[in-house]
Amino acid sequence: MGGIPFIVSAPSGAGKTTLCKKAVDFFPDLRHSISYTTRLPRAGEVNGVDYWFIEDRVFDEMIARGEFLEYAGVYGKRYGTSKKDLDHLLSEGLSVILEIDIQGADQIREKIPGAVGVFILPPSIEACRVRLRQRGKDSTEEIEKRLNIALEEVKRAPLYDYIIINDDLEAAFERFKSVVAAEKARTPRMLEAVSGIFGAATEK
Ligand code: 5GP
Repeated sequence: MGGIPFIVSAPSGAGKTTLCKKAVDFFPDLRHSISYTTRLPRAGEVNGVDYWFIEDRVFDEMIARGEFLEYAGVYGKRYGTSKKDLDHLLSEGLSVILEIDIQGADQIREKIPGAVGVFILPPSIEACRVRLRQRGKDSTEEIEKRLNIALEEVKRAPLYDYIIINDDLEAAFERFKSVVAAEKARTPRMLEAVSGIFGAATEK
């Protein structure tokens, strides 16, 4: 059985990365897709763990070779998902979280109709502002730019299969876990297991 691709989008400061990290730690068969980006690493970020940090020239080469399943410009930098990396994980039966923006989500939805979209909402824009300030990794100008974009991004939430409001991290995580568990239990994904258990009976 192939794994499930989960597209997870959220406005900056909604707590998406924390939630996704918790989910990957919790489910043994869930992985995080490591995107390629032309932005510089923030303090504490590690190449090959948080992102593959690459130069513009290398990004262009990857585009030319058709290596991206999707890519987009976000906040003036470019981000993309490698088709090969994702296919490799899915073919091993692993489910994968793609933490990508709304433009990337549109592209994946078209290319992988079975992908499951989850939109994480902050309880308010002010809560985002507070989180981004506490994170202390972006300038005030950058934070305000991200919050303006957030207002546009939130309008796309109805295109996703699930919406989770991150008002409280543990409560939001419980909901996230339910989404992953429910998707794994969907009938089309369980048919192989069913025939494994009741093979002879169902084949008659
Ligand atoms: P940050 O710079 O804060 O890590 O990420 C900025 C934005 O880029 C976030 O909305 C994040 O979800 C998005 N992003 C990260 N990786 C990808 C990717 O591979 N593709 C797309 N389209 N967006 C991405």
